[in-house]
Amino acid sequence: MPKLPTTLKIKKLRSPIHGNGVIAIAPIRKGEAIVEYKGRLMTHAAADEVYHGDVTSGHTFLFTLNDEWIIDANVRGTVARWINTSCEPNAIAFIHSEKKKNPDPKKDRVIIEALRAIKPGEEITYDYGFEFDVPYTAKLLKTWACHCGSKKCRGTMLGGKKYKAFVKANPDWNK
Ligand SMILES: [Zn+2]
Repeated sequence: MPKLPTTLKIKKLRSPIHGNGVIAIAPIRKGEAIVEYKGRLMTHAAADEVYHGDVTSGHTFLFTLNDEWIIDANVRGTVARWINTSCEPNAIAFIHSEKKKNPDPKKDRVIIEALRAIKPGEEITYDYGFEFDVPYTAKLLKTWACHCGSKKCRGTMLGGKKYKAFVKANPDWNK
Protein backbone atom coordinates (compact mmCIF):
# COMPACT_ATOMS: atom_id res chain seq x y z
CA MET A 1 0.00 0.00 0.00
CA PRO A 2 1.35 3.47 -0.82
CA LYS A 3 2.51 5.53 2.14
CA LEU A 4 0.05 8.17 3.26
CA PRO A 5 1.38 11.69 3.86
CA THR A 6 1.81 12.74 7.50
CA THR A 7 0.44 16.17 6.57
CA LEU A 8 -2.41 16.30 4.09
CA LYS A 9 -1.74 18.23 0.87
CA ILE A 10 -5.42 18.95 0.38
CA LYS A 11 -8.19 20.94 1.97
CA LYS A 12 -11.94 21.22 1.68
CA LEU A 13 -13.57 24.22 0.03
CA ARG A 14 -16.60 25.22 -1.96
CA SER A 15 -16.35 23.74 -5.42
CA PRO A 16 -17.47 24.99 -8.82
CA ILE A 17 -18.64 21.41 -9.55
CA HIS A 18 -21.18 21.27 -6.76
CA GLY A 19 -21.21 22.51 -3.19
CA ASN A 20 -18.08 21.35 -1.48
CA GLY A 21 -14.93 19.98 -2.93
CA VAL A 22 -11.31 19.30 -2.14
CA ILE A 23 -8.33 21.14 -3.63
CA ALA A 24 -4.60 20.58 -3.55
CA ILE A 25 -2.64 23.04 -1.37
CA ALA A 26 0.76 21.58 -2.31
CA PRO A 27 2.14 19.84 -5.40
CA ILE A 28 1.17 16.17 -5.57
CA ARG A 29 3.22 13.70 -7.59
CA LYS A 30 1.75 11.13 -9.98
CA GLY A 31 1.03 7.95 -8.03
CA GLU A 32 1.21 9.67 -4.66
CA ALA A 33 -1.25 8.65 -1.93
CA ILE A 34 -3.41 11.67 -1.16
CA VAL A 35 -5.77 10.61 1.62
CA GLU A 36 -7.54 7.54 2.95
CA TYR A 37 -11.32 7.29 2.53
CA LYS A 38 -12.49 6.33 6.01
CA GLY A 39 -15.72 5.90 7.92
CA ARG A 40 -17.64 3.30 9.83
CA LEU A 41 -17.89 -0.10 8.21
CA MET A 42 -21.38 -1.40 7.56
CA THR A 43 -22.67 -4.47 5.82
CA HIS A 44 -24.71 -3.83 2.68
CA ALA A 45 -27.83 -4.98 4.57
CA ALA A 46 -27.18 -2.54 7.44
CA ALA A 47 -26.56 0.33 5.03
CA ASP A 48 -29.80 -0.53 3.21
CA GLU A 49 -31.61 -0.44 6.53
CA VAL A 50 -30.12 2.85 7.75
CA TYR A 51 -30.39 4.59 4.39
CA HIS A 52 -33.56 2.73 3.32
CA GLY A 53 -31.82 1.12 0.34
CA ASP A 54 -32.85 4.19 -1.56
CA VAL A 55 -30.42 4.69 -4.41
CA THR A 56 -32.38 7.76 -5.46
CA SER A 57 -31.53 9.65 -2.28
CA GLY A 58 -28.04 10.71 -3.21
CA HIS A 59 -26.10 9.25 -0.31
CA THR A 60 -22.71 9.81 -1.83
CA PHE A 61 -20.98 9.43 1.53
CA LEU A 62 -21.30 5.69 1.12
CA PHE A 63 -18.42 3.90 -0.52
CA THR A 64 -18.81 0.29 -1.64
CA LEU A 65 -15.66 -1.37 -0.35
CA ASN A 66 -16.43 -4.88 -1.60
CA ASP A 67 -19.27 -7.41 -1.78
CA GLU A 68 -19.54 -7.49 2.01
CA TRP A 69 -18.74 -4.03 3.31
CA ILE A 70 -19.65 -0.42 2.78
CA ILE A 71 -17.76 2.54 4.23
CA ASP A 72 -20.16 5.07 5.70
CA ALA A 73 -18.28 8.35 5.75
CA ASN A 74 -21.17 10.09 7.52
CA VAL A 75 -19.53 8.65 10.64
CA ARG A 76 -15.80 9.20 11.29
CA GLY A 77 -15.31 10.24 7.67
CA THR A 78 -12.17 11.98 6.48
CA VAL A 79 -11.93 14.96 4.14
CA ALA A 80 -11.93 12.35 1.35
CA ARG A 81 -15.73 12.27 1.53
CA TRP A 82 -15.84 15.78 0.07
CA ILE A 83 -13.95 14.82 -3.10
CA ASN A 84 -16.18 15.28 -6.13
CA THR A 85 -16.59 12.92 -9.03
CA SER A 86 -15.30 13.57 -12.53
CA CYS A 87 -15.42 11.64 -15.79
CA GLU A 88 -11.88 12.90 -16.43
CA PRO A 89 -10.39 12.61 -12.95
CA ASN A 90 -6.92 13.40 -11.67
CA ALA A 91 -7.11 10.79 -8.94
CA ILE A 92 -8.46 7.29 -8.33
CA ALA A 93 -9.99 5.58 -5.31
CA PHE A 94 -7.85 2.47 -5.11
CA ILE A 95 -8.92 -0.45 -2.93
CA HIS A 96 -6.04 -2.26 -1.26
CA SER A 97 -6.54 -5.72 0.21
CA GLU A 98 -4.30 -7.39 2.76
CA LYS A 99 -1.24 -8.85 1.08
CA LYS A 100 -1.82 -12.46 2.09
CA LYS A 101 -3.77 -15.55 1.19
CA ASN A 102 -7.48 -15.14 1.97
CA PRO A 103 -7.37 -11.44 2.81
CA ASP A 104 -10.07 -10.27 5.23
CA PRO A 105 -12.50 -8.07 3.22
CA LYS A 106 -13.10 -6.06 6.40
CA LYS A 107 -9.47 -4.96 6.24
CA ASP A 108 -9.65 -3.59 2.70
CA ARG A 109 -8.65 0.08 2.63
CA VAL A 110 -9.44 2.84 0.15
CA ILE A 111 -6.64 5.21 -0.74
CA ILE A 112 -7.17 8.20 -3.02
CA GLU A 113 -4.12 8.26 -5.31
CA ALA A 114 -2.98 10.78 -7.92
CA LEU A 115 -3.31 9.63 -11.56
CA ARG A 116 -1.06 12.48 -12.66
CA ALA A 117 0.87 15.38 -11.17
CA ILE A 118 -1.54 17.80 -9.47
CA LYS A 119 -0.77 21.47 -8.91
CA PRO A 120 -1.78 23.53 -5.87
CA GLY A 121 -5.25 25.00 -6.44
CA GLU A 122 -6.46 22.15 -8.65
CA GLU A 123 -9.56 20.33 -7.51
CA ILE A 124 -9.04 16.66 -6.62
CA THR A 125 -11.53 14.35 -8.35
CA TYR A 126 -12.03 10.66 -8.88
CA ASP A 127 -14.61 8.84 -10.96
CA TYR A 128 -17.27 7.49 -8.59
CA GLY A 129 -18.40 5.01 -11.26
CA PHE A 130 -21.24 3.81 -9.05
CA GLU A 131 -22.71 0.37 -9.65
CA PHE A 132 -26.07 -0.43 -8.11
CA ASP A 133 -27.87 -3.69 -7.62
CA VAL A 134 -31.14 -2.43 -9.17
CA PRO A 135 -32.57 -2.37 -12.71
CA TYR A 136 -30.95 0.42 -14.74
CA THR A 137 -33.23 3.07 -16.23
CA ALA A 138 -32.68 6.48 -17.79
CA LYS A 139 -34.29 7.92 -14.67
CA LEU A 140 -31.71 6.22 -12.44
CA LEU A 141 -28.82 7.50 -14.55
CA LYS A 142 -30.30 11.01 -14.45
CA THR A 143 -30.89 10.84 -10.69
CA TRP A 144 -27.14 10.41 -10.44
CA ALA A 145 -26.40 13.06 -13.08
CA CYS A 146 -22.78 14.13 -13.42
CA HIS A 147 -21.98 17.81 -13.88
CA CYS A 148 -18.20 17.50 -13.96
CA GLY A 149 -17.90 19.69 -17.04
CA SER A 150 -15.41 17.40 -18.77
CA LYS A 151 -15.68 16.99 -22.54
CA LYS A 152 -15.77 13.26 -21.83
CA CYS A 153 -18.60 13.58 -19.30
CA ARG A 154 -20.88 10.50 -19.33
CA GLY A 155 -23.73 12.58 -17.91
CA THR A 156 -24.05 10.18 -14.99
CA MET A 157 -22.02 9.11 -11.98
CA LEU A 158 -22.85 5.48 -12.75
CA GLY A 159 -20.14 3.44 -14.40
CA GLY A 160 -18.96 -0.08 -14.89
CA LYS A 161 -20.37 -3.02 -16.81
CA LYS A 162 -24.07 -2.45 -16.10
CA TYR A 163 -23.79 1.19 -17.12
CA LYS A 164 -22.03 0.22 -20.37
CA ALA A 165 -24.62 -2.43 -21.20
CA PHE A 166 -27.47 -0.01 -20.50
CA VAL A 167 -26.02 2.76 -22.65
CA LYS A 168 -25.32 0.34 -25.49
CA ALA A 169 -29.00 -0.71 -25.46
CA ASN A 170 -30.26 2.86 -24.86
CA PRO A 171 -27.91 5.21 -26.73
CA ASP A 172 -30.44 8.05 -26.48
CA TRP A 173 -30.98 7.75 -22.73
CA ASN A 174 -29.90 11.35 -22.07
CA LYS A 175 -31.82 12.99 -24.92
ZN1 LIG B 1 -18.97 13.80 -15.76
